[in-house]
Amino acid sequence: MRAFLEAIEARAPGEELAAIPLPDTYRAAVVLKDEVGMFEGRPSEQKDPRQSLHVQEVPVPELAPDEAYVAVMASAINFNTVWTSIFEPLPTFGFLERLGKESRWGARHNLPHHVVGSDASGVVVRVGSAVRNWKPGDRVVIHCNYVDDQDPSAHDDAMLAANQRIWGFESNFGGLADLTVVKANQIMPKPAHLSWEEAACNALCNSTSYRMLVGRNGARMKQGDTVLVWGATGGLGGYAVQYVLNGGGIPVGVVSSPEKVKLLEDLGCEAVIDRKAAGYRFWSDEHTQDEREWRRLGKDIRSLVGEDPGIVFEHPGRQTMGASVFVCARGGTVVTCAATSGYMIEYDNRHLWMKLKTIKASHFANYREAWEANALIARGMIQPILSAVYPLEQTGEAAYQVHHNLHEGKIGVLCLAPREGLGIDDPELRAKVGEDRITLFRRHGA
Ligand code: NAP
Repeated sequence: MRAFLEAIEARAPGEELAAIPLPDTYRAAVVLKDEVGMFEGRPSEQKDPRQSLHVQEVPVPELAPDEAYVAVMASAINFNTVWTSIFEPLPTFGFLERLGKESRWGARHNLPHHVVGSDASGVVVRVGSAVRNWKPGDRVVIHCNYVDDQDPSAHDDAMLAANQRIWGFESNFGGLADLTVVKANQIMPKPAHLSWEEAACNALCNSTSYRMLVGRNGARMKQGDTVLVWGATGGLGGYAVQYVLNGGGIPVGVVSSPEKVKLLEDLGCEAVIDRKAAGYRFWSDEHTQDEREWRRLGKDIRSLVGEDPGIVFEHPGRQTMGASVFVCARGGTVVTCAATSGYMIEYDNRHLWMKLKTIKASHFANYREAWEANALIARGMIQPILSAVYPLEQTGEAAYQVHHNLHEGKIGVLCLAPREGLGIDDPELRAKVGEDRITLFRRHGA
């Protein structure tokens, strides 16, 4: 892959990139099928991604007609890589086996190793015969919605496709590698004012937060809405807060340390709750929730913004969902895309139906939503929330940081990019947006 890197750094034309022979193997972060039992009997927090994620050479797969090879300059850690690396709730090899049964091209994915990673920035180096809109040399970012566009269920909203998958989680050949294989309809233009690692960290979380809050498929946030954002400096929350502010809403951000309170204030969020300092105990024991604690959170929100939140941006799951349903305003919406702290959820249904609240499910984003969310990044209207950067060799450590909530925003991973700060093609736009805004999380995490 060195020849590709040299050509990319020299800004070689696409024809030159297309003429460089592909290697037989490439460097990738993988989990191994014969290790899925390695953590058996251990509690989640003792399952260590540093033991299960390996960086090794893997064979280059064949390219399907609707796909492209992308030389990956940088990638990022998402929570799904944490799930894959601790084999919870299920080993992801089951997904690969199912995909393997779908078609000749699907069969490529069913391997004894799983290349993980659901974000990437890089350069297209080959395209399949059916690819129309992209060519070698294009500088791109990748979104993770992997759909079979020949299935009728994929048309209207691709997230409703019967065989919708997340690339690098439910498919193989993910982004934490020097090379990736993606469908042409996963490719988007790289925001020109960002470095490779700043560009790589956005697509998954930014698009997810966009769909949850903006447009017809989520909570349909409008100007003046008060939005409670859990984990407001985390991967999803760091973008959600920006969407609420951009859309004329009033974010109430929940975080868990004074440093994160400060970061959130610097991001422009005035109403902030430190959940650790407040010491909420929504569960008095493993089986019982305490309505008085829900009420206390509700009071705290009202004391900050004078009303109940019309939208609750939910993802912690079991620990917070009871409280989220309770504090949500009459007629409001709890929009949820995850359950980090446990997926068997309990809430008091009386508070839902008597006050005509809605629980709205959301999952990643369709191509159009991902494209629109990426366009906002490219215009400098939404900022990357990159806080730390690791080399590919240390993917396990980077995933460990996310697993244990030791990070803020997003953790980037350098793949082919030899160092940080490369790949900025539009310094004028960067200066206009402002270095301070673009690097807010990075300076904080440094
Ligand atoms: P993240 O970067 O780890 O951020 C999550 C934040 O949630 C943390 O910063 C933490 O903030 C907060 N949090 C964690 N445990 C909590 C608890 N028990 N109670 C309250 N807050 C808690 O992760 P992320 O990237 O935002 O992802 C969050 C979840 O969404 C993960 O489960 C991920 O798999 C899922 N996800 C789903 C989709 C989808 O398409 N469905 C897309 C992206 C992510 P504080 O400690 O500061 O409060």
